[in-house]
Amino acid sequence: MRRTKQKEAILEVLRGTTSHPTADWVYNEVRKDIPNISLGTVYRNLRLLCQSGEILELDPCGALSRFDARRDNHYHFRCEKCDRVFDVDLPVDGEIDRRAAQKTGFEVSSHWLEFRGVCRNCQES
Ligand SMILES: [Zn+2]
Ligand SMILES: [Zn+2]
Repeated sequence: MRRTKQKEAILEVLRGTTSHPTADWVYNEVRKDIPNISLGTVYRNLRLLCQSGEILELDPCGALSRFDARRDNHYHFRCEKCDRVFDVDLPVDGEIDRRAAQKTGFEVSSHWLEFRGVCRNCQES
């Protein structure tokens, strides 16, 4: 029972933001509702939500994981100055999957694309 409530609270926090937050950020938000929740519980529930496909984990090499409640395949932009992650609303290119499959003989189900650079905010400052 309790676990379901925690999971729901975490999902709600993620659905309320487009900032692709870290587990720490989610933890701090969920704590406003459930003050006695532990960071370990947040991590465990984030894993479970990823496994069940309810959220996406953005997994860049070495950096902290980010989480996203938006489940359709979409592209991201990561700012190299402030490390914020944004959604990029370009249509997902199914042609790349087809070409990769042709080239390798593998069955390609999706691809991951992250743009890098400097966001508008950081360009201005
Ligand atoms: Zn930036
Ligand atoms: Zn996203």
